[in-house]
Amino acid sequence: MDALDAKYPFFATAREAVADAAVSLPELVAADAPAVERARERVERALMDGTIASESGAFPAESAYDVQAELLSYPIARILVSLLDSEPAIEKYAAAEAATAIDRIREDLATDDELRSTSTPTVALDDVLAEFDLADAVRPESLRSDVGAAGATATGSESGTGRDPEHYWIAVGPYLRLTSPSWGESWRLVNRALADGEVRVSREELLDALEAAVEDRVREGLPFELAAGEGIAAELESGVADLKRLLSERTYAGPVDVVAPDLFPPCMRNLIEKAERGTDLSPPESFALMAFLVGIGMSPDEVVAFCADTSLDAEGIRYQTEYLSDDRGSQYPPPTCETLANYGICHNEADHMQVAADPLAYYEQRVAEADEITDWREENAAEAGSE
Ligand code: SF4
Repeated sequence: MDALDAKYPFFATAREAVADAAVSLPELVAADAPAVERARERVERALMDGTIASESGAFPAESAYDVQAELLSYPIARILVSLLDSEPAIEKYAAAEAATAIDRIREDLATDDELRSTSTPTVALDDVLAEFDLADAVRPESLRSDVGAAGATATGSESGTGRDPEHYWIAVGPYLRLTSPSWGESWRLVNRALADGEVRVSREELLDALEAAVEDRVREGLPFELAAGEGIAAELESGVADLKRLLSERTYAGPVDVVAPDLFPPCMRNLIEKAERGTDLSPPESFALMAFLVGIGMSPDEVVAFCADTSLDAEGIRYQTEYLSDDRGSQYPPPTCETLANYGICHNEADHMQVAADPLAYYEQRVAEADEITDWREENAAEAGSE
């Protein structure tokens, strides 16, 4: 087992390391080994905060857990999340594993070659592409000498040379498999530079696609079929009960059910303004905004109308908001301020993170303090009636 396996436990080598290790998961669970505690934390953080990073510190340098506990916590976490018996929990868990993995990959790619060492294990982009069978499907633009005006002109390459190292070309099949038009208009194939069966993407967009690949890999095979009350399921019963209790405690008593855009927290106002300028929101940005709008009581139709003049497309909005609005999805509140800060969505203006742990709580406070509120829904209905 090495630190890289523990850092990326869904890689094939990590799975082999677990299979080859002379450890039995049921015995570890029965002994309540550190891997079990870390697995509980892994799932709890995924469901509550959208990340699986340990609160004890970044792995491996600052974490309280060693390589073995970190690596083995992954298969145990998969068992735990299976026992929660909740499809939204599985989706949220897979998304959190993927979000943390892509943060780590981004950090690895930014690590200077000279700083790479065995004590700070890192992956290169080629390793990640090979892991997901994309080695032959993705090429850096700098290696694509045949890029002509199609690529550079259609997306407005900054360099104008068609050899921008910040861009890649990905085969259209993997592009369609790993991306979704619900991410925004710019992801639709018709709005992309397409040449010789390849689609042009920026480096950040390639990382978004790789995040989807990680999420699919984590999601694969879940939930496990486990007989309740027997074997490892019985040993994990109290951990599962704790997680279910936490989930129910996090359920909001009820939405504030008033739409007052002037009182929205800065993070949400910034996202709305960005979308109104016609700029695409990244998947985490779009999820955070949709979760907030649903959280304050807006229906999918209202969110579509509210976002009518933005870069967000109605189909994508409907998909996300209907999922977030259903009985099961509604138990998953918007990401916390801490998570939004990690994504660069929150800038914590005037240190107002002090007064609330998440954007919804902050908005509820502002609504409670406001003297007079005009609900956007009433204004919108009045305008529609006068047309
Ligand atoms: S502190 Fe919270 S509510 Fe305020 S901008 Fe950041 S994420 Fe939004």
